[in-house]
Amino acid sequence: CGIVGYAGSLSAVCHRPLEVCLQGLGRLEYRGYDSAGVALVAPGMEQVAVRKKAGRLDNLMAEIDARPMPEATAGIGHTRWATNGEPSDVNAHPHRSGDGRIALIHNGIIENASRLKFDLEAEGYVFDSSTDSEVAAKLLGKIADQVIRENGAPDLFLAVRRLALMLEGAFTILAVDCRQPGIVVGARHDSPLVVGLGDGENFLGSDVAAFVAHTKRAMELGQDQVVCISAGGVEVTDFHGNQVQARNTFTVDWD
Ligand code: GLU
Repeated sequence: CGIVGYAGSLSAVCHRPLEVCLQGLGRLEYRGYDSAGVALVAPGMEQVAVRKKAGRLDNLMAEIDARPMPEATAGIGHTRWATNGEPSDVNAHPHRSGDGRIALIHNGIIENASRLKFDLEAEGYVFDSSTDSEVAAKLLGKIADQVIRENGAPDLFLAVRRLALMLEGAFTILAVDCRQPGIVVGARHDSPLVVGLGDGENFLGSDVAAFVAHTKRAMELGQDQVVCISAGGVEVTDFHGNQVQARNTFTVDWD
């Protein structure tokens, strides 16, 4: 339902990803939701740090107070409006890859999720939740491993493009990988995603409310495009990896 992403660095001039995500989710509360969660990555992490809770954002914040999260370079946050699977802690986003190195959040409905899940289960993948979104997370983990075998290095941007080509239905997806802790990758099809252009940091949101407290410069991601944000830049391609030059940038005139 609500989506926030942030990529910066550990430098003091950057915001803290956790704060950006929680504040952004607060700004998106008006959309309504039944659960909330965040995922953070930082150099040296073996697994993505995830906290998620059914119910109000306060529940998530209490969970984070009880189990504090590490300092991070990038993060993603989600408020869920359940469509596939009841509202619960396990069904809340982010969802993780099988090895826990990747976390993914999703808005929309993946129409071919049950077929993809059937195939993944046949290969031995185990699912925690009953959501369509976890299918995308497990599949992304599998694709990311294939990319590493082919190229000898992780490439989340490429892995998300390949994932997007396999999904049917409506989706905005954001993903982080602890092997590439400086980036957040997003993709969209029939569901919105906006990029917030910062200085030494960049933002993603399901709408500009997610980041308008930090930057008023924004760019709408086009249909069937994938974006990779880092502290230093924003790269956009189509699902096949062709660079997208034309950019629909605008300035937000409210706060
Ligand atoms: N279909 C997903 C789920 O039920 C995403 C729902 C949403 O857009 O919040 O978890």
